[in-house]
Amino acid sequence: MQSNPYDWIDESLATIHKADWYRSVQTIQSIPGAVVKLDGREVINFASNDYLGLAGDERLIQAAINATNKYGTGSTGSRLLSGHREIHRELEIAIANLKQTEDALVFSSGYLANLGTIAALVGKRDLIIADEYNHSSLKNGAILSGATAINYSHNNIEDLHKKLEQHRQKYRRCLITTDSIFSMDGDLCPLPEILAMANSYNAMVLVDEAHATGVLGKTGAGCVEHFGCTGNPIIQVGTLSKALASLGGYVAGSSILIDFLRNRAPSWIYTTALSPPDTAAALAAIQTSQEQPQRRTQLYNNVNLLREALKNNLPHLKLLPSESPILCLEFPTTKDAINAGKKLKDTGIFAPAIRPPTVPTSRIRISIMATHKLAHIQQLVEALENID
Ligand SMILES: *Cc1c(COP(=O)(O)O)cnc(C)c1O
Repeated sequence: MQSNPYDWIDESLATIHKADWYRSVQTIQSIPGAVVKLDGREVINFASNDYLGLAGDERLIQAAINATNKYGTGSTGSRLLSGHREIHRELEIAIANLKQTEDALVFSSGYLANLGTIAALVGKRDLIIADEYNHSSLKNGAILSGATAINYSHNNIEDLHKKLEQHRQKYRRCLITTDSIFSMDGDLCPLPEILAMANSYNAMVLVDEAHATGVLGKTGAGCVEHFGCTGNPIIQVGTLSKALASLGGYVAGSSILIDFLRNRAPSWIYTTALSPPDTAAALAAIQTSQEQPQRRTQLYNNVNLLREALKNNLPHLKLLPSESPILCLEFPTTKDAINAGKKLKDTGIFAPAIRPPTVPTSRIRISIMATHKLAHIQQLVEALENID
C-alpha cells in the first residue's frame, strides 16, 4: 500500500480533461472596455459583465485614486472592529436610494453577500425553495445554512407552487431564492408571480440582482423596478462587480433586515471590510449611472441591434430565451461550443464557450456593453456567419 494521498487529484484532473470540462485562465492586458488586449492581441470584448462600460471610466478611476490617497489601500479590519469608513456608509445609502429600500449593507463580494444572508435567515428547521438554475453562491448559501433545500424547475411557477404545497407546512421559515437575470442564460425570473406565491405561503423572497443592477429598470435599480415591485418586502442581493464596475456585494431591504444581518451574517462580521478604492469606485459608478441614463439606452440599442442581426442573418443558430444584455447561442456538443469560441477568438472576437458543469448545455455566451460600437456588433455577426 505505497500510495500517495494526493494521487487522486491527478486522476480527477484527467477525468475533467476527458469530459472536455478542463478550464484555464486567459490574460487581459489592457484597461477594460469594448476592445481589450487578450493574450497579446486586440479583440472585441463580448465577455465582460461591465455592461455600462464603467470599469475603465476616468471618473471611477479618479474616485479610486482619491480614496486610496485619503484612506490607504486596505481597510485593515472587519467593519465592526477597525474597518469601517465614512465611504462605506455613503455607498450603502446610495445603494438604498437606488433600490428605494430603507437600508443596505455592503459585503466584500456578491458571493459572500449570498452566503452570509442565507445562512443568517434560515437554519435547520427551515426550508429553501430555489430555482434550479440559481447561481453557485445561492446554492452554497443554502448548504451553509443547514436548511432543507428543494429546487423547482427553471422559472416554472407551477412547479414552485407544487413544491410549496408539498413541503411548506413541515418547516418553520421558508425562503424562496432566485437570480433575477440568470447569469448563464440571460432570461428573467417571473418576479410578480413569485411574490404572489410567497405571499400565499408565508415565505420570504431573496432575489439576486447581480446582472440586473444598473441594467434593468428605468433608473437601473434592477428587476424589482422593471416589474414595478419596488416597495415589496424583498431581500435584494447583488454585486458591485458587474455594471457597477468595482468589487463587492450588497443586500438591500428593510432597516430591520439590515440591522439583523449586521449582527448575524458571518460573511459580513468575520471578514475584512471592502477596500477604500473598491468602495469609492462603486459609489462613483452609481452616481455616474444615475447622471448618464443614456448609457442604459445605448446598451439596449446595442442588444436590439444584435438580436435583429441574429434573427435576419443567422436564423440557424439557436438563441436561448433572453431579456437582458446576455445572449447565448446553444451548440449541440461541448466540442462544438469550444471550437466556435476558438474560431471567434481567431477572428478577433472574445465570446467564450460556457459548458457543463456550469450550465446544462454548451453555449457561446455574448455580453453586450453600452460602449460597443455598431462596427463591433457587425464584426461579431460576420464572425458568427463564418462558423462551420
Ligand atoms: C456574479 C454573481 C454573483 C457573485 O458576485 P461577486 O461579486 O462576483 O462575488 C452572485 N450572483 C450572481 C447571480 C452572479 O451572477
